[in-house]
Amino acid sequence: MPNEIPLIMWKYRCGGCGTWYQHHDALPDAYGQFLMRSEDGLSERILFAPTDPVLKEVGRLVRAEPSIQRLPELKQSDIVQLVFSVACDAPENGSPFRMSGFPPCPQCGSRNPAAWDTVQPGAVVDVEVPSVTHQHWSTLNETEKRNLVKASLKALDLGDQPQPQILQRKRGWWIFARTRK
Ligand SMILES: [Zn+2]
Repeated sequence: MPNEIPLIMWKYRCGGCGTWYQHHDALPDAYGQFLMRSEDGLSERILFAPTDPVLKEVGRLVRAEPSIQRLPELKQSDIVQLVFSVACDAPENGSPFRMSGFPPCPQCGSRNPAAWDTVQPGAVVDVEVPSVTHQHWSTLNETEKRNLVKASLKALDLGDQPQPQILQRKRGWWIFARTRK
């Protein structure tokens, strides 16, 4: 199956051992296009958010919760992205897919890069990644779905998460790094 979204090469500087490594990911600022990764970083799935009906469904269930309605819209969107994992079929090894997350460092396995940027000239890479599926979710009734979303919300730490922050602009490219708590 061909990719539904274009992927390009990125480079990352490992926050653990300092190694630079490369891996494909979605284009920067490509609205609604995600390369989901399993928590262990070993499996990937394509998500085109605007046409995924389950993402909308999870969004509706999350935003129906009074504790979520009190939060700013941007925070609500972040939470929908985190909870969405419960509606996605996990890979065979059972590690759930996340809408955000970095590829692991090939040297030390860390998924916490200190900096990242696109590799120039940013040509589209030829790699086949399957689309995310929702087979288990589709077998659930409305109450079961709501309970799963509630359980996921309860498990989330809804405190302030570190956010990507623009550190400097270098030769026309933004260098990003995450702030630490
Ligand atoms: Zn490393």
